[in-house]
Amino acid sequence: MTPVPDQDFIKQTFPEPVMPACSIVKTLRGQKAIVTGASSGIGKAIAIALGHAGADVLVNYVSGPDDAEAVAAEIRRCGAQAIIHRADVSKEDEVAAMFARAREAFGTVDILVNNAGIQKDAPFDQLSLVQWQRVLDVNLTGQFLCAREAVREFKRRGVRKEISCAAGKIICVSSVHEVIPWAGHVNYAASKGGVMLMMKSIAQEVAPWRIRVNSIGPGAIRTPINTEAWGTREAYDGLLKLIPYKRIGEAEEIGRAAVWLASDDSDYINGTTLFVDGGMTLYPGFETGG
Ligand code: NAD
Repeated sequence: MTPVPDQDFIKQTFPEPVMPACSIVKTLRGQKAIVTGASSGIGKAIAIALGHAGADVLVNYVSGPDDAEAVAAEIRRCGAQAIIHRADVSKEDEVAAMFARAREAFGTVDILVNNAGIQKDAPFDQLSLVQWQRVLDVNLTGQFLCAREAVREFKRRGVRKEISCAAGKIICVSSVHEVIPWAGHVNYAASKGGVMLMMKSIAQEVAPWRIRVNSIGPGAIRTPINTEAWGTREAYDGLLKLIPYKRIGEAEEIGRAAVWLASDDSDYINGTTLFVDGGMTLYPGFETGG
C-alpha cells in the first residue's frame, strides 16, 4: 500500500521555495521553446527557468489549465512571452497542432524540452498490457512525435546566427533509469532506456544540420510523481541510501541544467545524457568500499 505523505515531516524538511528574482542574464533571449508536461514538477521548473533566461515558452499541459496558466504568468512576470496549450504528447495530431500553435504565436521553435512522462507501476507478472502500452506511448512515443516535429522545424528554418549557433536544441528528460534497472517499474525503465538510444540516434543523424539532441537524467527529484519516496521520514531515509550526496534534488536544479543545455555555452555537447542525480548512478552500494 502507498504510504500516506506526512505533512508535518514535509513542512519541516522541505520549506516552501521562494521564487527566484528575475535573472538579468538572458542567455536565451530571442529563442522560442516548447516544454511538454510543464504544468507541474520538473517541466514547470524548466519552463520557468527558460523563461527567466529570456526564452518565450509554450507551456504544454494535458490537464489542469490553471496550473499551466500560473507557470505562464511567472514567465511573463520576468518579461518573456508565454502561452499555454493542451496536448496529449502521445497523439500525433495533437503534437502537430501544438507545434503549429507555437509557430503561429512565436514564428518558430528553437528549443524542445521533451519532459512529459508517467509511471504505472506493478510487479512484472501483474503488469497489464494497458499499463505497459500507456507508459511507452507517453514516455517514448510522445518524445519521438515531439522530436520529429522539432527537427522538421529546425531543418526548415536553419541557423540564425544572431539567435543561436545551432539550428535547434532538443532536451529529452530521461532518468537514471535509462541505465539503472528498476524492479517493479519495468515499463518505465524500458521507456527511458528507449529514450537514451532514440536521443543518441537522432543526435547522430541530425548533427550535420547543427541540431543538438541531449538528455537530462534526473535522479530522485522532489515532485508529485514520487511523493511516496520522500513524503514520510521512513521513506526519505530509505531514499537517501541510494544517493551519495545525501539529499533529494529539487526541480529547479533540473531547470538550471536545461538552460545550460539549451544555450550556446553547451554548443559542443551533443548526444549526451547529463545526469543530475547527486551521484545515484555511482553504485552507492559500494560507498563504504563494498
Ligand atoms: P510530474 O508528474 O509532476 O510531471 C509529469 C508531467 O507530464 C505532468 O505535468 C503531467 O500532466 C504531464 N503529462 C503526463 N502525461 C502527459 C501527456 N500524455 N501529454 C502531455 N503531458 C503529460 O512528475 P515529474 O517528476 O515532474 O516528471 C517529469 C519528467 O521527469 C518525467 O519524464 C519523469 O519520468 C522524469 N523524471 C522524474 C524524476 C523524479 O524524481 N521526479 C526522476 C527521473 C525522471
